[in-house]
Amino acid sequence: MTTLLYQTNSYLKEFSAVVVSVIVDAHAILLDQTAFYPGGGGQVYDKGIIEFNGLKAVLKRAKYSPGGILHILDEGEPMPEVGSEITGILDWDRRYKLMRTHTAMHILCGTIFRDYGAHVTGGDMEPLKGRMDFEFENLTKDLVAVIENAINKEVAAARDVRVAIHSREEAFKIPDLIRTKINLLPPHIKEVRTVEIVGLDLQADGGTHVKNTTEVGTIHITNYKSKGKINKRLYIELEP
Ligand SMILES: [Zn+2]
Repeated sequence: MTTLLYQTNSYLKEFSAVVVSVIVDAHAILLDQTAFYPGGGGQVYDKGIIEFNGLKAVLKRAKYSPGGILHILDEGEPMPEVGSEITGILDWDRRYKLMRTHTAMHILCGTIFRDYGAHVTGGDMEPLKGRMDFEFENLTKDLVAVIENAINKEVAAARDVRVAIHSREEAFKIPDLIRTKINLLPPHIKEVRTVEIVGLDLQADGGTHVKNTTEVGTIHITNYKSKGKINKRLYIELEP
């Protein structure tokens, strides 16, 4: 298994690791540890560079696999051997934008749940852009400006964002997590990572976030779509 450095330190831009396996067919390597996020929970995977023996290989993407995080290198790039020491360098500009966007999405769903009791049903994001779906019958166009104002108040409130790792038993006692259907977690999952925007939102989450809401910057709600009587979609964008 790969040690997931990004789970405890999302600000790691560069790290050292050892190659533990080479998967020739997939043009991929497994490392003993990594700061590259493999994607999941709506946040897309990281890209970057892998350096070894004075060579540089472009990382096409990191990807989850049951045996560990696959680091898939671009076609034609050099491949390190098992046992090689490598330096992983993240495409930080892209990753930091994703961190800001991911935290913005939690601000949006935390605020909407607090103010209207509406639940999220889905979402997706790319750097500085995202969309989120809600079970929110009364979400009309008029409300969009009110919500935009409320979420930017939360950005300005400079709320800390805290990550914690709980045992399954511990996590099952946290009321906010019960609301987000934590009971649906497969039984083999023994630890639950949580991301808390202090005073606003707490959820089980594997992604990377900024440490304070001020880092998100102004959030614009750029579009609204009714996807039926109950389901409504909001689109957001962040400033560069
Ligand atoms: Zn999330």
